[in-house]
Amino acid sequence: MTRYALGIDIGATNTRIAVVDSAGNILASEHLPSRMAEGAPFFAEVGARAHSLARSYQVVAVGAGTAGQIHHATGTYLPGLYPQAPWVGVPLRDILAEATHLPTFVDNDCKTHAYAELKLGAGRGYTDFISLTLGTGLGGGIIANGELVQGAKGIAGHVGHISIDPAGPPCPCGNRGCLELFASGTAVARLASAQLGREITSPEVFRLAAAGDAAAQSVLETMATALGRGLGAMANMFNPQLFILGGSIMQWYPLLEETTRRSFQASAMTELQDTPIVTSPIGGAGGVIGAALYALDQVERGRD
Ligand SMILES: [Zn+2]
Repeated sequence: MTRYALGIDIGATNTRIAVVDSAGNILASEHLPSRMAEGAPFFAEVGARAHSLARSYQVVAVGAGTAGQIHHATGTYLPGLYPQAPWVGVPLRDILAEATHLPTFVDNDCKTHAYAELKLGAGRGYTDFISLTLGTGLGGGIIANGELVQGAKGIAGHVGHISIDPAGPPCPCGNRGCLELFASGTAVARLASAQLGREITSPEVFRLAAAGDAAAQSVLETMATALGRGLGAMANMFNPQLFILGGSIMQWYPLLEETTRRSFQASAMTELQDTPIVTSPIGGAGGVIGAALYALDQVERGRD
């Protein structure tokens, strides 16, 4: 029997709500601009809109992925990197459950994306992999033994905060030289702006590099070297069957591939150096689909 869940993806810029079936098809969806800075009232509005979107379907659960750190047991936003932010302490899971009257599961958006990779993406058929999402920042989700790794508080998988260079720039997490500061859209724009002496966006940098610009290529060399080093650290720790690279800037991965691979092999232990690194076949809907499928699986296992 086909079962339906609501998937919600609350990003820093946009929020997407969708009715998803157990095969991962989107049957109805809508978007609204994210207004996380409003705090609880915004999340209540998301819940109300989700409730009305679900009306025509036999929806059995709600899954939500969101930017930021979520406490797994309580479904509440943790202080994370921005302790003063207005969403800190907002009980996201309770707000959505109250609005929809359905069992609700909330998590970080990069982890729900990893779940979509497991169910219908490049991770299908695998039990152990790490999914990275490279866009404005760099997040991740770890699948081990076929399950999403949660950790004690539910914030396992923040692979963007592996320190690559202890003498590197300070990171909002309190560390220095984190992977995210080298391997993300924001990082590429910052590194290239410093190198070229003018403001430049990351898509411009990728386009210049593709056209053979030496300065842009050297920025991507820095990015790919850091990425390979980070993947090497992850391989040594988790011995995944593969790495899956997704997110808005990974359409440019062919420009990074050779250096990433070389740097990865220099960092990973000998037995791990042949770990495949692939790009994600899932587009921007991965977060919303993964959240819905995660919620369906949890309900099926009686975890409501
Ligand atoms: Zn950091």
